[in-house]
Amino acid sequence: MVIAIDGPAGAGKSTVARAVAQRLGFTYLDTGAMYRCVGLATQRSSEPAATVARRIEIEVGERVLLDGEDVTEAIRAPGVSEAASKVAADPEVRQALVAKQQAIVADGDWVAEGRDIGTVVAPDAAVKVFLHADPEERARRRAAQLNLDPQDVLAKQRTRDERDSSAGRSTLQAPEDATPVDTTGLTLDEVIDQVVTLAIE
Ligand code: C5P
Repeated sequence: MVIAIDGPAGAGKSTVARAVAQRLGFTYLDTGAMYRCVGLATQRSSEPAATVARRIEIEVGERVLLDGEDVTEAIRAPGVSEAASKVAADPEVRQALVAKQQAIVADGDWVAEGRDIGTVVAPDAAVKVFLHADPEERARRRAAQLNLDPQDVLAKQRTRDERDSSAGRSTLQAPEDATPVDTTGLTLDEVIDQVVTLAIE
């Protein structure tokens, strides 16, 4: 069974998905970490991103491993966020990662989090949630989490949001059958409760 959680950067997806997985005894899949691995590996390589995406071994769990190297912290650097967002605009990169993600969620119970889980990776997911929040609120949360300047985070977030939802690509689209959850002004526990309730209904 798959619970799909999609939404823009800073909507609280990772924290919510992780907590929901723990409550239900499911495994958490952070697909953004996979795009971040491709971003990091492409920064380090002279090959095109699509070649890199097809070649590298990514393991996502408690720690994130890129060809066996622990990159859990390295992939959170602001430069890698940028690189991930850029490589994610390449359809061949997406194709390679979607195939890996579909193989991962084929067996077992998963809470998968990203931009295209309910639409592309797991269109048959049992539960689909689209988390969103005001841009200022999302930037504030990210800045607090990473100890960065909120205005700076807001500006960069805007660029990434635009790239994620640019015409002809529209990675970030709420699945038609998803339940929208606006997390602005909700506590984390309130959001987690809402998603868990959807899953056990
Ligand atoms: O969620 P996170 O910020 O870690 O994702 C990093 C980048 O990867 C995003 O900016 C987005 O461009 C891309 N991404 C994607 N599809 C996903 C998950 C992430 O395009 N399913």
